[in-house]
Amino acid sequence: MRVGAVGVGAILAFAVLGCTRRPPNVLLISIDSLRADHVGAYGYTRDTTPTIDRLAAHGIRFETAISSTSWTLPAHAALFTALPDLAHGVSAPTDSLGEGIPTLAEAMKAGGYRTLGFYSGPFLHPLFGLDRGFDVYRDCTSYDASGSLDGETRGEKEGTRAVQRLHARSHKDVTNPKIAERFAAEIESLENQPFFAFVHMWDVHYDYIPPPEYARMFSPDYTGTVTGEGFRMNEAVHKGMPAEDLARIIALYDGEIRYTDDTVAQLLATLQSRGFLENTLVVITADHGEEFFEHGGKGHRHTLFDEVTRIPLIFHHPRLTPYAAVSTQVVSITDIANTILELSRQPRLANTTGRSLVPLWRRRSPPWQDRPALASLRAGASLSLDALRGPDAKIIHDLARKKHSFFNLTNDPNEQRAIDPQGSRVAEAMADALARRTAAAQATGRTIGGGARAKIDPATLEALRSLGYVDTSGGSPDSGGSPQ
Ligand SMILES: [Zn+2]
Repeated sequence: MRVGAVGVGAILAFAVLGCTRRPPNVLLISIDSLRADHVGAYGYTRDTTPTIDRLAAHGIRFETAISSTSWTLPAHAALFTALPDLAHGVSAPTDSLGEGIPTLAEAMKAGGYRTLGFYSGPFLHPLFGLDRGFDVYRDCTSYDASGSLDGETRGEKEGTRAVQRLHARSHKDVTNPKIAERFAAEIESLENQPFFAFVHMWDVHYDYIPPPEYARMFSPDYTGTVTGEGFRMNEAVHKGMPAEDLARIIALYDGEIRYTDDTVAQLLATLQSRGFLENTLVVITADHGEEFFEHGGKGHRHTLFDEVTRIPLIFHHPRLTPYAAVSTQVVSITDIANTILELSRQPRLANTTGRSLVPLWRRRSPPWQDRPALASLRAGASLSLDALRGPDAKIIHDLARKKHSFFNLTNDPNEQRAIDPQGSRVAEAMADALARRTAAAQATGRTIGGGARAKIDPATLEALRSLGYVDTSGGSPDSGGSPQ
């Protein structure tokens, strides 16, 4: 079934889901840097995601889910708070989440859930405030194993050396085994209490260094020399590189996706072994995508084009299986938290702009109002973008250059031919809508106290600068010096 709003049958499904004696457990998985169009369920031709595809086939899949930005830290803040970046205010690598802003984990904990967090990349470190509300928040990076950081980060001194290590070593890190192991240990020790588990999976993020069988999987005949190591600074990976070498890089990225999908299968098997899977809502998403020179750059945090903002979004629960569907509505990463809360029979987060997607399953009131998705990127004085993504059009406002670019996605789905909005009624209306949405988000941010500065001392900032994570010169889309 492929419809704008999913079928009326799903009403029954969620009625049943809501009437069980126990509220559903929730497993929320964020796969860092996973662009939607490299997922099989989204039409990718390689077999990158058999496990996720099965969940999608038996669940609800959102064809056009848009992140709040194109990098890790603000996207996860949006995921957890149901607020756009301009409201939660976490937009620089030195920002942490303001302490007065409620989070999904806090709400689930208040609702009687045991809250488990597992993270595997630097911007999910407790320094940035995204651990708030978790009973357990486990570091699944492997660089702590050497003793540079203790595995239990709660209470860890927020020191320069720790953060420096986090960033410098993260790109080389392989974290899937540790995630599977620590997840199993926590699930094993659960008692009779519903759980909310958030799992951040890092290995799809560059560097692209999957285990050998995955490295070979999608480019078995490659004989060249390019590798996925040191991706961000690797000068061999550039816009004019030979096509077969670029294909190899993308095959390695796809290998990381398959490797991660196989780890997702392990997480589900862990739940199955404890008998939890029958009553667990599994949500699969990503923080942002990845670009491979579609618009001249590599990585992410340079643009707001679809390759970096369009993310997978899938909801699965066994009782939804008879009602599996695809929604073509444009939805936002900020809609995920309130959807989970409604399905878990908890009150929605207060003062949020993110919506619950549950009305899309319901035919009756309140009627669903289409709303384009807002995204923003603040990466220095010269790179400041806002965008509004509708079902068939998109507008990007480059604040530094005082320029709007409009894209007709019906005949230009890859956003290659920017149209000057002047003179186009549709484009001008979209520019006005974007201005209203950004102003409203900023007003919300002022009200709720968004955008606290991270508790990072000056020496740490200097260390981050030396690693290219904080750009005081203003940054540039072509600098390559972006963080996650
Ligand atoms: Zn990320």
